Amino acid sequence: MVKCKRHGTENQDNALHCQECREKIKPKKAKKGLNKFILIGLGILGPIVLTVVVLILTSTP
Ligand SMILES: [Zn+2]
Repeated sequence: MVKCKRHGTENQDNALHCQECREKIKPKKAKKGLNKFILIGLGILGPIVLTVVVLILTSTP
């Protein structure tokens, strides 16, 4: 939950504006979510890149 700075109304985490006063809300979890996304991306891409490199190295005479 994200609270409005003006009067503390609770809004959804992905809410951009307060549902009461339409004040802009800056989500706090954005950076953490981005980091998590990058970590997941690296976790998926890492093994793929490794296997491709190994395949290239093993295929060359
Ligand atoms: Zn508000």
